[in-house]
Amino acid sequence: MNRRLRCYDCGTAYEVDDRKRCECGEPLWFDADTIEFEWPDSAWSAGMWRYADVLPVSDPVGLPPGATPLVRADGLDEYAGCALYLKNEAQNPTGSFKDRGSAVGVGYALRTGRKWVGAVSHGNMALSTSAYAASAGLECAVFVPADTPKGRLELIARHDPRIFRVEGDYGTLYERTLSIDSDVTFVNSDTPLRVAGQKTVAYEIVEQLQPDGPDAIVLPVSSGGQASAVWKAVRELEAAGLIDEPPRLYLVQAASCDPVATAYREDEPTVRPVTADETIAVSIANGDPPSGTRALAAARSTGGAVVSVSDDEIHEAMDRLSTGAGISVEPSSAVTLAGVRRLSRSNAIGADETAVLILTGSGYTERYDGEVRSRTIDLPSLDRELSHVTAR
Ligand SMILES: *Cc1c(COP(=O)(O)O)cnc(C)c1O
Ligand SMILES: [Zn+2]
Repeated sequence: MNRRLRCYDCGTAYEVDDRKRCECGEPLWFDADTIEFEWPDSAWSAGMWRYADVLPVSDPVGLPPGATPLVRADGLDEYAGCALYLKNEAQNPTGSFKDRGSAVGVGYALRTGRKWVGAVSHGNMALSTSAYAASAGLECAVFVPADTPKGRLELIARHDPRIFRVEGDYGTLYERTLSIDSDVTFVNSDTPLRVAGQKTVAYEIVEQLQPDGPDAIVLPVSSGGQASAVWKAVRELEAAGLIDEPPRLYLVQAASCDPVATAYREDEPTVRPVTADETIAVSIANGDPPSGTRALAAARSTGGAVVSVSDDEIHEAMDRLSTGAGISVEPSSAVTLAGVRRLSRSNAIGADETAVLILTGSGYTERYDGEVRSRTIDLPSLDRELSHVTAR
């Protein structure tokens, strides 16, 4: 692939180097001059490496991310208000879509002879980057907010990266690591390498739903990295003539921390930082999203929207996914179901339309101190208990 970086906004192109930002300040992405994209005929078992031809690196490292299931969830149609599909990114090797970008970032570091990779993260990306670094024999440094829950740190520590719990402003830390002169290849959320890998989720969705693409793709947004990637992929597929009618991209945030939704609602041209309040959706609580304005452009230019949902709605949506579809996701993924419900109620998404929710991260890697409904019984009462429960 022709590895050139380009600004989505002003169009300036840069020969490939470690540049992450345009002169204008906006984030860059890999952008070939001509896109020769065809649906691959290689086996689904290769995961996202099936699309290696259009990625900046093509040699697999570690467990292949991608090739995650896309399931029809008709049991949730009524709740969602449309025909619902779930793209279960929780089935990636470390439990989130972050693996797609980590594999490309770590693969690139390996190929260019680097010894260190790094990430600034709320947890999932630190876990994913650490695992892929371990698989490639590279050293890894991760920087997480000082208040990151212990459970998350324990999972990350298994892969033995250097873990730094950083006090101070997350947005400043994030940008500093991208401009700092060091031997560490940083693959933060919205860096070109990570965005390139994350495009593959959208290729898969469109391929899995052929011949009719979805009307809408609904995803959570924090840094805006994934939203940028999905947008880029859709543009590429359209340019290659593989989709006629590109899906509308709907982005969802938690109401306590919704800088992108605020800019959308208030018709602002760019996203401005907000002071974040607490939310259960910890993986998307970025009050100063580095690709926020690019995510806003993704929603606007595809005819989609950006909405935010309350923690109560997120809780309820999480329950619905667990009990109505058998899928446990983290709150940051459940926002999509809460979001699609709102969007169909406001008629932004029609009852006869199909929507794909990207379930970004697993609920099985995290514990919450919620109520557990159960009964303690003794063995002699087993028969009675069984007939009791089935009689109801
Ligand atoms: C990282 C993450 C997001 C947000 O993705 P961005 O690319 O930062 O917008 C959403 N959900 C989960 C589970 C994540 O780990
Ligand atoms: Zn620019």
